[in-house]
Amino acid sequence: MPFAYLCDFDGTISPQDIGAAFVERFSPDGAATGRDVLADWLAGRMGHRELSSRQAALVRISGEEEALAFTRAFKLDPHFAPFVREALGRGDAVMVVSEGFDFYVRDHLARAGFADLPWAANRARFESGSIVAEFPFADPACAHCGNCKAQHVRRYRGRGFHTVLVGDGVSDRHGAQAADSVIARGSLRTWCAEQGMAHTSFESFADVAEFARRQDLAAPLPRPSRDLGARRAVARPAAARPKPPAAGGRDR
Ligand SMILES: [Mg+2]
Repeated sequence: MPFAYLCDFDGTISPQDIGAAFVERFSPDGAATGRDVLADWLAGRMGHRELSSRQAALVRISGEEEALAFTRAFKLDPHFAPFVREALGRGDAVMVVSEGFDFYVRDHLARAGFADLPWAANRARFESGSIVAEFPFADPACAHCGNCKAQHVRRYRGRGFHTVLVGDGVSDRHGAQAADSVIARGSLRTWCAEQGMAHTSFESFADVAEFARRQDLAAPLPRPSRDLGARRAVARPAAARPKPPAAGGRDR
């Protein structure tokens, strides 16, 4: 069975939380207010959808160009790109699932050479010197999340993938609950341990790549054949691999 790796962005693919840094940098009156908003969210008094809307309302910025000039200063985990190439080459799927904003997720993936990688994030609409948060991937049945990571997980599982949620924070919990396997660090790892939820720890995508290789080695080999050529068959024949549910930017 092929694996689908659904990877959080801020704090996971990007070791630093670009979204939080962006809001802090461009909220001139909002340093204290922003901290209050964050405290309400961490205490569970509001969901991530409301958090994003309230944080966006604090932002003062000339436009997307100024935003990108700031967010481009951040670096992605250097092990992420080789992990993706190896996973896709093996027939596994990788999708980026983010509670951050679309403009910097899209930009960073394109600059890393992954413009065609499926991804989903909340939308920041630049308007009149500020931004408005929009939620194209919210689940109407859940008031909590902006981008419902669980629905992305379920879509991949419905296509025949073993699903793996890779993440580091509170916004990954619903996705982790829906996934077949969890790879965690940060507060997600702590929460998994508290919940008694099986998980694998990671420090960087080098560890995620190692996890993926172990799954590949554990996959059953095809039945041997008298045809000598078949001895070179890979563990998981291409014909048996399902198609990912979406490709490229259409998945936003
Ligand atoms: Mg995160």
